Amino acid sequence: MTSKCALCDKQLDSNFRLDGRCEECWRCNQAQTFVKMLEIIRNLAVKQADFDETYQRCRQLQLVIDSYSIYITILKQLKIRDHYIDKIAIPYLCDRLPKTDIKLYENYCPIELETSDQNNNLLKSIAFLCSINTVDNFIELRVRNIIDMVLNADTYIKKNSDLNELQNMKPTWLRWILDNAREEIWCQKDLPNSATTSLRLYSLSNVLNVIIKSLCPQMFGYADAIHHRLHRTYTPLSLQKVNAYETPIHILWASKTALSCIDTSSPWLPDRVVPLLPLMQITQLENLESNEMYLPIPGK
Ligand SMILES: [Zn+2]
Repeated sequence: MTSKCALCDKQLDSNFRLDGRCEECWRCNQAQTFVKMLEIIRNLAVKQADFDETYQRCRQLQLVIDSYSIYITILKQLKIRDHYIDKIAIPYLCDRLPKTDIKLYENYCPIELETSDQNNNLLKSIAFLCSINTVDNFIELRVRNIIDMVLNADTYIKKNSDLNELQNMKPTWLRWILDNAREEIWCQKDLPNSATTSLRLYSLSNVLNVIIKSLCPQMFGYADAIHHRLHRTYTPLSLQKVNAYETPIHILWASKTALSCIDTSSPWLPDRVVPLLPLMQITQLENLESNEMYLPIPGK
């Protein structure tokens, strides 16, 4: 039986690699491999491939992905000397979360990210908290996320009632998933009030194997659907995969506009995501300067 290389469509000879790549593609490094995969997904988007073709292609690509590990190191503490606190986001955290969460997160600080992308920083915040190198403009994370969404979207939708509205919209969400490969600035068209943003978060949690705690302010005045949608915990499909001792990561939905200047006469939508980290007291910081594995300070 003959088959084609998953990355270049070249006919494979009998001693082809088990993950479906030809000799030449197999010799590419990890970064080059993910660039090739992104190109394949782009082509599927351009030709508007149907679900079956897309699914089969993504299954092939997943075999290649399985040959590579994604290395993450979860940041556990805010180091006051390394990070800037995001002052605009603080009131969203301290004044607009449910009371129990205000107490729970009183030691946490929003971090200001250096970014030229003024829009949704969801991916950047998550990559920052997981210490993922982003010089490749998130290509590897982007490819892993897209393929995971194609392969598992049905499962996420069945498992999570907040994704119900995607139930009978397969052509629409498939188009959205694949179009992510075409955007130069990723996530540009993510709308925080859309179920597809939640789908992305479930998938990122699964791909990175981390629990993502997403905090979203209650802005009152209107039925707070956005809080209801985004104030939740996203977990990987198999909780057994998560290291029980691993810290969840925390993100906060906020705005570029100061809370005091928000127009409360119209519904509010977050236009920004910031990472959250527990703050370490200065004295502890000095004592533990060379120790990377800080423990969070218990609540005051
Ligand atoms: Zn090849």
